[in-house]
Amino acid sequence: MRTESAEPAVMPADLDAQQQRFDTIVVGAGVAGLTAARLLSQVGRRVVVLEARDRVGGRVVTDRRFGLATDLGASWIHGITGSPVAAAAEAFGMRAVEFTVGGYQPDSRPIAYYAPDGRRLTDAAARRFADDIRVVDDTLADVIADSAPDASYRDVTEIALAAQRWDQERVERVREFLEHRSEEQYGAWIEDLAAHGLDDDVIDGDEVVFPDGYDHLPRRLAEGLDIRLTHVVSHVLWSTDGVVVTTDRGRFAAGDAVVTVPVGVLQSEHFTIEPPLPQPQAGALGRLRMNAFEKVFLRFPARFWDDGVYAIRQQGAGSRWWHSWYDLTPLHGTPTLLTFAAGPAAAGTRDWSEEQIVESVLAQLHRLYGDRVERPSHVHVTDWQDDPYSRGSYAYMTVGSTTRDHDDLASPVGGVLHLAGEATWTDDPATVPAALLSGHRAAENVLGRGIPIETTWSAAAGGAAA
Ligand SMILES: Cc1cc2nc3c(=O)[nH]c(=O)nc-3n(C[C@H](O)[C@H](O)[C@H](O)COP(=O)(O)OP(=O)(O)OC[C@H]3O[C@@H](n4cnc5c(N)ncnc54)[C@H](O)[C@@H]3O)c2cc1C
Repeated sequence: MRTESAEPAVMPADLDAQQQRFDTIVVGAGVAGLTAARLLSQVGRRVVVLEARDRVGGRVVTDRRFGLATDLGASWIHGITGSPVAAAAEAFGMRAVEFTVGGYQPDSRPIAYYAPDGRRLTDAAARRFADDIRVVDDTLADVIADSAPDASYRDVTEIALAAQRWDQERVERVREFLEHRSEEQYGAWIEDLAAHGLDDDVIDGDEVVFPDGYDHLPRRLAEGLDIRLTHVVSHVLWSTDGVVVTTDRGRFAAGDAVVTVPVGVLQSEHFTIEPPLPQPQAGALGRLRMNAFEKVFLRFPARFWDDGVYAIRQQGAGSRWWHSWYDLTPLHGTPTLLTFAAGPAAAGTRDWSEEQIVESVLAQLHRLYGDRVERPSHVHVTDWQDDPYSRGSYAYMTVGSTTRDHDDLASPVGGVLHLAGEATWTDDPATVPAALLSGHRAAENVLGRGIPIETTWSAAAGGAAA
């Protein structure tokens, strides 16, 4: 076990005089990196956080144009019961609003469903549809448990659908829903997602969003830490003696490092680890992939859609790309719909202009609401796929991957290199809680002892601000 606040162990011989030395280097100031840095600095370790962007938060980022807080990355806590992020948000005084349809649930809250012909389903028909989804999900659990290692989510859902012996129309509606769930939850086409790819997608309790912006979380976590913004890390050299991290602004040395860059960055040629990651980390990394998932916010002069619903969903051929709209009006009192370009829609529109995307979305809203649809007054379309510091929105399990890959990725390397971040956490990966919990685990691994997770939000960081 390492002694707290110890000098870094003997470093490789080629270190230069300008090089800065720390106990621990954290790469990435997203929720995972900030959590690890905070916990380590709380016990007196000298920690530096190296961050490529000019801000903290990574994939938790809030746009504040037009006097509104628009979360361009994470929005939801997908279930507040037992969530460390819910506890942290409460401790940091973040205002939360219940919005329990984020996890692509069929009917957790009122949803206006539209049939393939564009007419709204009656409440009874919508209930029957939601019941069909539940029946298939019940069958699916056993099918997935018995599935072959190379089975895709499509393979298992087809088996579960066939077992129902329904007519074609009934099957098609649920098949469509399952495709959309794979896209909206993981930003992946159903044939590219592993059979087990949605296993950990469990929602416990209400879902909430943050009307004043999710970015309060990383900002509060960052308080008091030594964070070097606009430091792009390109190389991590490790040995059992310690690490040397190369950035575009010089090199940094430490006894150990916590690397929290997204899977897309880890896999890119612009970020190298030397010696390369061993097994099982390398194999696990090869089976995870960044997705294609973008948000499209449309703010309208007036509401033209259904009253009293959290979301609008359409079925049928028109729904291939644009199928779900979430009514964010209650957040700010401004008529707002959020939809997602997810999986094939995000890949297909990657090179489109904002105007083309808006036209394509509006064409589908016209099918449902006719001339009542007005031009949006403000639009925001994200571009996570082309963001060099994320290279997608979050990681999904490709066919052949197992849930264990997430944890394997986090096995410490040489006792000095610790990978953390959403993709390294098995229970509900691809989320902010996963990022926070992975940062906590990395800090525990660095120290070689347990740390109560509550200290993440109940104690000050203790380091000096940069
Ligand atoms: C559109 C979208 C919607 C989402 N919706 C939700 C949601 O509703 N609920 C939810 O729980 N989660 C959601 N997520 C996922 C959630 O945002 C992430 O799982 C979480 O924020 C990841 O945190 P992290 O610390 O692992 O990674 P990051 O936040 O990506 O942090 C990694 C940091 O490393 C930095 N970095 C990258 N490369 C380098 C480099 N070369 N040198 C130095 N620094 C580098 C990055 O700039 C970044 O700050 C969403 C994500 C997106 C993009």
